[in-house]
Amino acid sequence: MDAADWKQLKKIDAHIHIIPDEVHRANPDAEDVWVYADPERYRAVMEENHVEKAVIMPLNDPFLMSMGFTADDVHRNLFEMKRRSQGRFYTFADLDVRNAPEESVCFLRRAVDVWKTDGIKVHPNNSGVAADSPYFDAVYAFAEERGIPVAIHCYPGRENDLSSADRILRIAERYPALKLIVCHMGAFEWERLLPLGCHVDISAILPVYARILGIAKTNQLLRAFGVHRLLFATDYPDSRVLPPNSIYDAYFEILGQMDFTPREAERIACGNIRELLG
Ligand SMILES: [Zn+2]
Repeated sequence: MDAADWKQLKKIDAHIHIIPDEVHRANPDAEDVWVYADPERYRAVMEENHVEKAVIMPLNDPFLMSMGFTADDVHRNLFEMKRRSQGRFYTFADLDVRNAPEESVCFLRRAVDVWKTDGIKVHPNNSGVAADSPYFDAVYAFAEERGIPVAIHCYPGRENDLSSADRILRIAERYPALKLIVCHMGAFEWERLLPLGCHVDISAILPVYARILGIAKTNQLLRAFGVHRLLFATDYPDSRVLPPNSIYDAYFEILGQMDFTPREAERIACGNIRELLG
């Protein structure tokens, strides 16, 4: 069978992290993985791995993404990174749950209309608010009305986690037309997501599945969702189990052992996310 060459394939990474320059400048002694979350450094990584474009995800933590510590400052920083990238970065809008829900929606409207964000990121665990909390109702309603994708962090670590798959199911039920991206495929609650129409990104979780389940079982799991629902994504530089420098090679090695044809690989690598972002 004709296998896909994942390294050479042109890709859009649907989930990465870049920390704005002003935050790097304010933390010159940082030594953690976030040092790698630097626009210049990442551009070289893109080049080397044939990642043509990438989606910068915020963290629902304005202290990591701005020195003004507000959602609007985060959005301005994202806009700057996008502008300077000459079309190589997409950005998702941030949420700061210290704001009232209607204030958050005002910031989102401004993020989309002024700061040209391409979607919205909801991180229940970082914000301490459950994915299906009434807090996010206005956010989902806004996104549904505007046809903007919402990416929800879903890596539940315990029963009834703030980002549990059951909560995602309830959101999908309430907002049937919402363009939903479930990050990390719902981790080990993935099976619950199969009946949904949502897209799933394989960020952070793919190498974990490969280690725990093996390649064949992981391949089956991805197939269970179907090629049209899968988004190539890594969570660079914070993959949990891999050092930043080996994330892409590990992804290519795992995916290269699977049964995706070059045509299917192209859909997963960039076709699906391109369609979602319009
Ligand atoms: Zn992430």
